[in-house]
Amino acid sequence: EAYIGAIEAANDALNAYVAVTPDIARAQAKASDARIANGTAGTLEGIPLGIKDLFATKGVHTQACSHILDGFKPAYESTVTQNLFDDGAVMLGKLNMDEFAMGSSNETSYYGAVKNPWRSHGSNLDLVPGGSSGGSASAVAAHLCAGATATDTGGSIRQPAAFTGTVGIKPTYGRCSRWGTVAFASSLDQAGPIARDVRDAAIMLRSMASVDAKDTTSVDIPVPDYEAAIGKSLKGKRIGIPREYRVDGMPEEIEAIWQQGIAWLKDAGAEIVDITLPHTKYALPAYYIVAPAEASSNLARYDGVRYGLRVEGKDISDMYEKTRAAGFGKEVKRRIMIGTYVLSAGYYDAYYIRAQKVRTLIKRDFELAFNAGVDAILTPATPSSAFGIADEDLASDPVKMYLNDIFTVTVNMAGLPGIAVPAGLDHKGLPLGLQVIGKPFDEEMLFQSAHVIE
Ligand code: GLN
Repeated sequence: EAYIGAIEAANDALNAYVAVTPDIARAQAKASDARIANGTAGTLEGIPLGIKDLFATKGVHTQACSHILDGFKPAYESTVTQNLFDDGAVMLGKLNMDEFAMGSSNETSYYGAVKNPWRSHGSNLDLVPGGSSGGSASAVAAHLCAGATATDTGGSIRQPAAFTGTVGIKPTYGRCSRWGTVAFASSLDQAGPIARDVRDAAIMLRSMASVDAKDTTSVDIPVPDYEAAIGKSLKGKRIGIPREYRVDGMPEEIEAIWQQGIAWLKDAGAEIVDITLPHTKYALPAYYIVAPAEASSNLARYDGVRYGLRVEGKDISDMYEKTRAAGFGKEVKRRIMIGTYVLSAGYYDAYYIRAQKVRTLIKRDFELAFNAGVDAILTPATPSSAFGIADEDLASDPVKMYLNDIFTVTVNMAGLPGIAVPAGLDHKGLPLGLQVIGKPFDEEMLFQSAHVIE
């Protein structure tokens, strides 16, 4: 009831929720009370969560914050949300996001921008919460849920977590089932939690993760008790510092917070080593070929016949055209056009195949570092703190917006786990995050190191 009240009081201002489901929350909470009373409580019994609008929730608003999915209420539940409910979690509602998870500011949502609950010192300017999981990050930061589900294709869990002073982890590709999560770029998409601290994130991820017969890319590796990793000593662990992440124009205070993180990990017993990930500079351009290519294929299904919106036309082709013209926003259309172009005959080898080769090189950079004895890698999470809503510079130049993902996309390209953890504030009083990148399926090392930093 406290969370439902908080949402009623603050959501008009923040726009974090696009659908609130108090009846479902109350029914689930009642069932939780019964399980607690009879001694069969799960690990998340009665914990009120927000669910990103990308997750299919049975009978409940699921639109990936797109106009084209108007009125869509799935007949099934995503595996991740089902796992959470099986452990006793309670759903408060569906959270705002960039349309189809394409964006870094939550401004591409059909439902409008989300506000970051943080403000710069002495300023009334509204800031973005980051994206695409901006609703998730804003709701967690403003106490409008105890934790939230999110997804990360190129940084969409970690960047909003960094912008709102929350913790977000993108697990290893294959850790969580993608079944029932609206697809953006299938070889990059992963679900994960945004939470108030490292322990909460650990508890949530343990529940969300599972192998699943309905997603053949989910992996059958036991899910450890992540919470147990928290507080373990870092003695004997080696943390790599990649020189390529010291990018031109990065504010000095981000460098400073990075050095602070290094010092904390050293104090906790870790050995710090300089490493090189030489193909880092190609990650962003390669990502912005691979992700739109997969998106253009995944979004072909929205045709006015199977889901949501239909705009009538004089024949079926006309209906497709009118529906897609009216249903997709500008950024989504841009991605579909880029993706279609790089996959078309004549350009396929020059762009798509080349980007896939670059992807292999990026993956190999990380493998070499890990094989040389590095246990985890520490980097900044983002090249800046949260920026203003409708920032003119960014709105007019999509490439500038894409630069937000510079430290996060490498991790998706390599399929690795990455966590963003709040590490301090900048001169404006806004949160800055650090990122810890780990070996495949070694999320424990991320929780262990992030706990030292938080
Ligand atoms: N900002 C990136 C993009 O727009 C990543 C989004 C995401 O991780 N879903 O593609």
